Amino acid sequence: MIKELVKDEAVLSKRCAIATAEDAAIAQDVVDTLASLEDAACLAANQIGQAVAVGAYLDDERKAHVLYNPKVIFGLGAARVEEGCLTRDEPSKVTRYAKIKLSFDELVDGELVRRKRDFVGWEAQMIQHIADHCAGKLV
Ligand SMILES: [Zn+2]
Repeated sequence: MIKELVKDEAVLSKRCAIATAEDAAIAQDVVDTLASLEDAACLAANQIGQAVAVGAYLDDERKAHVLYNPKVIFGLGAARVEEGCLTRDEPSKVTRYAKIKLSFDELVDGELVRRKRDFVGWEAQMIQHIADHCAGKLV
């Protein structure tokens, strides 16, 4: 279901609870809402008012990828970049890694399965943005 974006910093600055397989409906709302937004590339659940650690991003083909409990284990190639956010009016300067190793959970047959994977470039940047939202970090 498409939800309204939440821009309230009191909501967005709270660390999100660990997501479970029961949060699949919230993840679907994140995907639906993200797909409905013209220039959006990624969205976290707390941006639609659900304080659980799940988010999604769109790849180059605008296919949605859901990440439960994303956590950057380490990164390489830190650089300062300017980044926009759907729930912030002004772009901000942030430090982002060009390459990351991410741990996250994936929903497989109704259960969360822990994964570790490397991401680079634009994908890595969006994922770091999602992981920040899940940690309640406001750039
Ligand atoms: Zn954001």
